[in-house]
Amino acid sequence: MKLTDSLTTHFRIDVAHVKALKRLRIETVSDLLYHLPARYEDISDVQSVSGLEKNQEAVVYGQLSGLKTRKAWKSRKPIAEGYVEDGSAKMRIMWFNQPYIAKMYADGMYVKLAGKVAGSEGKLYLSNPEVEPLDSLPIDRHDSIFKGTDQVSDTLYPVYRESKGITSKWIYHTVLKCFEKDILDILIDPIPIEILKKYNLPELKTALVWIHSPKKAKDAESARKRFAFEEVFYIQVQKAQERASVSAAQTYEVQTNDEHIKEFTDRFPFKMTKAQAGSIKSITNDFIGNHAMSRLLEGDVGSGKTAVAATTAYAVATSRPPEGLGKDLEYGNLQVAYMAPTEILAKQHFESFIEYFQHLPISIGLITGSGCMKYPSKSDPNKPTKISKAQLTKWIKNGEIPIVIGTHSLIYKSVEFKHLAYVIIDEQHRFGTNQRKRLAKKDTRLPHLLSMTATPIPRTLALTIYGDLDITLLDEMPVGRKPVITKVVGPGQRKEMYEHVESELKAGRQAYVICPRIEEPDPDKITALNMKSVLAEAKRLKKDIFPEWRIESLHGKMTPAEKDRVMKDFSEHKIDILVATSVIEVGVNVPNSTNIIIEGAERFGLAQLHQLRGRVIRGTHQSYCFAVTESKSDKTRDRLKALATAKNGFELAEHDLQFRGGGELYGGKQSGLSDLGMEAIKNLKLVEAARNEARHIVEQNPDLSRSFPLIAEHVTRIGEVLHME
Ligand code: ADP
Ligand code: MG
Repeated sequence: MKLTDSLTTHFRIDVAHVKALKRLRIETVSDLLYHLPARYEDISDVQSVSGLEKNQEAVVYGQLSGLKTRKAWKSRKPIAEGYVEDGSAKMRIMWFNQPYIAKMYADGMYVKLAGKVAGSEGKLYLSNPEVEPLDSLPIDRHDSIFKGTDQVSDTLYPVYRESKGITSKWIYHTVLKCFEKDILDILIDPIPIEILKKYNLPELKTALVWIHSPKKAKDAESARKRFAFEEVFYIQVQKAQERASVSAAQTYEVQTNDEHIKEFTDRFPFKMTKAQAGSIKSITNDFIGNHAMSRLLEGDVGSGKTAVAATTAYAVATSRPPEGLGKDLEYGNLQVAYMAPTEILAKQHFESFIEYFQHLPISIGLITGSGCMKYPSKSDPNKPTKISKAQLTKWIKNGEIPIVIGTHSLIYKSVEFKHLAYVIIDEQHRFGTNQRKRLAKKDTRLPHLLSMTATPIPRTLALTIYGDLDITLLDEMPVGRKPVITKVVGPGQRKEMYEHVESELKAGRQAYVICPRIEEPDPDKITALNMKSVLAEAKRLKKDIFPEWRIESLHGKMTPAEKDRVMKDFSEHKIDILVATSVIEVGVNVPNSTNIIIEGAERFGLAQLHQLRGRVIRGTHQSYCFAVTESKSDKTRDRLKALATAKNGFELAEHDLQFRGGGELYGGKQSGLSDLGMEAIKNLKLVEAARNEARHIVEQNPDLSRSFPLIAEHVTRIGEVLHME
């Protein structure tokens, strides 16, 4: 048996199962061995449904079915109900006064339920259980995989990610069979032994045995640490190589100085915060150096990132290209591309930039999927005008338009620049470096890159997924901005909240209502369910709470044109209350909307709640955020209360990481990290160790594929995955 062997060479697997394995990205023996357990189940606390008795506090695992909502027979109070089935029996579940529960989950979902058994003999039911959705069910406890062995622990077993037809159990047994075929003896550890020793990590062979069939929880932990290190290490090697290649490339030098910058910023109607001034300084310092800048600017919504972008864009757009001006051109200068994630945001930036640049002879272009604009217009120099894409791209290509703002169209439509010296990317996650290269096209010089984000992520995650970038924090809000008043609204406290919102509406303000995120393994179902909850909530508010106000909804199943229409109506105050899913665009600016109600707040990470709250931070009026939860748990309420006290988003992100784990982090899914990798970032020491070792090895070995072919191979694979999407 060899690592690269297809599993089918050694095991009888039919076509359907081969396909199922492929969905889990398992084809070879090596893929299987590296399909690490998602977690370990301690079977001592699992109960089977058939054995439950009245008044027992039960924890069961099973599949949901028959979910629906009805009114209680006499009281007419709403009840959500359904069934849970675990292979031993099927039992009824009832949730009283929580009708939305039936909408939050779906038939067929795997769940862990914790609740009390109530009812009478023969008619038992599980009452108000807490629900935790699962990707898969643990193996039946009566079929313990440790049975008949002399293991120290007989209750700890691995649970793997499954796919239709491929059970966790199958994976486990097949791994053991590979071990029996002496696969472990031929393994070569890609990580140098000195590094493993230095950090007290087990060697590959030992680690594989420990992670797949641990005798002690401590061994499993130790093995997981090793693989986590390994994963972060490869990512860091890749980032270090990326950095090295940026350093090697030529770039544009942007000449500027404090005086020059001051001419621009003195016109602002506000005084820059220290953080803004500091980040402008860091950026302009990079502009003078020999290497292209790669920088991430992280700042809460409202911290003033656009002003930083505009000021530094100004420095570029007023600089000469290396070979001097084109003939007769007053402004054939260096160029800036500013990319926004949505059309609405691109248009907003275009408008802000017009304000910032109107006193200067600098043209600005806007390019989006639905058309192009140019400022200034020939006929009215104070206004922008619509122009054809052909015309705009021509002017970009010959260098007449120094600043171009746009959506992804900037990349996908064949836009060519003459002297692209600066790429600014707003609210993008991990694709920044890639997009820079694509925008630069055949230019021999690499533009400077500024990636901006309002997503608060913990330092460890930033060091990992943005390992190739220098990070600048805008951790200070402009003075005079009133903090959002945040309230946690528990069961039975809605009335007061609705009264408050009503008084705000009467005062001419607007409100957002965000409906709970619904977790569902199938992404298509997420949007469908979220849409349902948005529509139902809009209807309920219209009927029962705010009959006199104009309510509309916004959700992921709408076309971009429909979404734009609703957002436009909302920003023009043709709508009073916007009911939306949590996935709608961040950063859309409607200063008059000063209230945000977040339903099912306990289902979000704090950092996400903070971001949602950021939507009402813009105006001059006092803003309010209501985090609504039906949970009676004190722990949940306490966690949510941190929202009211934390100073900024970063603090909340660290809080999430420690208390809920990496998976809860916004951006976690896009980070390219496995669940294990996300676990690793809880550990700053481990991340820093991996980063230092990676940088060291790249510095010492310019040709990595020669000196460490196994590492190079892994790194290439990461690169492929990251660049695929
Ligand atoms: P974000 O960081 O969310 O992109 P923006 O750049 O959109 O923030 O800024 C939000 C608002 O704050 C804008 O209206 C902007 O004009 C204003 N602003 C930016 N910097 C300052 C400052 N130093 N003092 C006061 N207001 C500011
Ligand atoms: Mg912004």
